[in-house]
Amino acid sequence: MIPVNTPLLDGNEKKYLIKAIEEGWISSEGPAVKEFEEKFSARVNRKFGIAVANGSIALDLAVYALGITNGDEVIMPSFTIISPAAAIVRCGAKPVLVDSCTDFNMDVSQIEAKITNKTKAILVVHIYGFPVDMNPVIELSKKYGLKIIEDAAEMHGQTYFGQPCGSFGDISTFSFYPNKHITTGEGGMVVCNDTALAERCRLLRNLAFVPEKRFVHEELGWNYRFTHLQALLGISQLERLDYFIERKRAMGKLYTDLLSDLSDKIELPITRKEFADNIYWVYSIVLKQKAGMNAVEAMKKLSSLGIGCRPFFYPMHLQPVFNKSGWYNDEKYPISEHIAEYGFYIPSGLALTENDIHEVSDKLHLILN
Ligand SMILES: *Cc1c(COP(=O)(O)O)cnc(C)c1O
Repeated sequence: MIPVNTPLLDGNEKKYLIKAIEEGWISSEGPAVKEFEEKFSARVNRKFGIAVANGSIALDLAVYALGITNGDEVIMPSFTIISPAAAIVRCGAKPVLVDSCTDFNMDVSQIEAKITNKTKAILVVHIYGFPVDMNPVIELSKKYGLKIIEDAAEMHGQTYFGQPCGSFGDISTFSFYPNKHITTGEGGMVVCNDTALAERCRLLRNLAFVPEKRFVHEELGWNYRFTHLQALLGISQLERLDYFIERKRAMGKLYTDLLSDLSDKIELPITRKEFADNIYWVYSIVLKQKAGMNAVEAMKKLSSLGIGCRPFFYPMHLQPVFNKSGWYNDEKYPISEHIAEYGFYIPSGLALTENDIHEVSDKLHLILN
């Protein structure tokens, strides 16, 4: 079986972890946490980084720390993972949705029509390795006084007009899950430039303990802490981020070269726009009508041939958890629905070999011809 996601852990990971165990540092108190926060936030042009347990929690913290609360609205894409919507709902606010473009990112031209006097923020999610067109979002945020929350979980090392993704939000978040460009096993980070906001995130990450009166609380926080061991993995992975991006691009190019003769049956991922080149966080396929099948059928065939696949995200407006509350029942987002039905991704992990990619391509040809 060719697995759909496999990280590369052949840098300094082992060396660093052995040293940590020998020195007795393991918990969130270890010095590597701060070092990783500093190195990673510098890499994405931010003053502050607050490492947390995972990328979903990073979003929970970001939305909460901005003060989003009961009755507020936050505009976000329908086509994404549940985490950003969950973060908004947990603060008592409502995610207001927009459809996607064919590059899978939110259609920023639909945002303005969704702004009401309850709107507090726009939450952008860069999808599958290609950035959202940020300039129109930044203009709207200025025009209407809205915050920008940027989910850059899939975007370590990607840029928009040369500026790092993760540098555009009032607050931005990353994930270090093993299928991301750099991994710490589980992990995430909130990044920002505002001193007070960063301090608020640090406080909330650690149960809102205050140094003066350790067990006396003015407010409730969480234990969202990140460990020294995770930080060492992160430091080691970060050393090779440029190489990882180069490798992802080479993998993406090889797939595109091998699969372009199937272009009447499948749509391949976008290569570039004036503001970015794809880094192929995952290599996506959208089946066309001529393929004669949907993503579920294609994935079943591929997995019977030993090729791991994953479905695309499932749109927020179709989520039973929200429909049950009476949300989005009459709303339609045709592109999100189309790509969720016909889209999936093929093995894209950094540990994939050229031979693996050839094999995946051969099997795709087999099921489509
Ligand atoms: C992976 C991912 C997350 C969640 O990160 P976890 O670390 O798995 O919780 C959030 N948003 C996007 C866009 C992601 O791809």
